[in-house]
Amino acid sequence: MKKIRWLLLWMTCVIIFFTGCSFLKEGGKDKGQIEEKEKGMTTNSATTTEMKQEEKKLIAIDAGHQEQQNSQLEPIGPGASEKKIKVSSGTEGVETGVPEYKVNLQVSQKLKKIFQQRGYEVLMIREKNDVDLSNRERAQIANEANADIFLRIHCNSAENSLVNGALTLCPDSENPYCDSEMIEKSSLLSELVLEQLCRNTGAKKLSIIRTSDMSGINWCEIPVTIVEMGFMSNPEEDEKLNQESYQERLAEGIADGVDTYFEKGMEE
Ligand SMILES: [Zn+2]
Repeated sequence: MKKIRWLLLWMTCVIIFFTGCSFLKEGGKDKGQIEEKEKGMTTNSATTTEMKQEEKKLIAIDAGHQEQQNSQLEPIGPGASEKKIKVSSGTEGVETGVPEYKVNLQVSQKLKKIFQQRGYEVLMIREKNDVDLSNRERAQIANEANADIFLRIHCNSAENSLVNGALTLCPDSENPYCDSEMIEKSSLLSELVLEQLCRNTGAKKLSIIRTSDMSGINWCEIPVTIVEMGFMSNPEEDEKLNQESYQERLAEGIADGVDTYFEKGMEE
């Protein structure tokens, strides 16, 4: 009897021992699973960070023209036989005498600051006036950087000094150099930028000009708009275009248009 009791006790101990081991094993397994989960979480958060960086939009800004005109010719688009001068010197203020390329760069630099504050990446095609970059080269720099959009900042002029207001340009639907998606997006971008620019400055809203004649558009592979901020041939508008506060409002308006463009893109 005593022997049997001892045997039973012994067997119970053995059972508890093995069961205990198996608990330990499972505990070990659990720990491993937790570690794997933690690893997974690390990977996930790394991916999230990468995605955030990927989501940061890159905006290429071209302050139109430059100090010295380059009258050499270049094709107006890929494969085009028609040629245009590489880059013109632009217009100048009828009242202030300030050349357009200076105003374009002043507003572009304000835009750069605003975009950076709003979390965008910015690529400036030029940051000084003394450069030699053709319209084709400017577009190609933006293409190669894989920018999300290309803003080309300009001022206008007309023979009639009464003409004033803002307008934007984009490729027309028949444009042989641009694909249909780029044409559609450029049109939307041009509409929204013009809308917000005029709302923010009170400038007269003229129109969106759709064209196949602009080298800087035709060489572009990404959504593009040329912003003609106002007429330097109109004395009052020329004065305004040279005011810090008005330039700030122009830049804010353009940036608001770009914000709306990306918001609309997210909805699709
Ligand atoms: Zn211009």
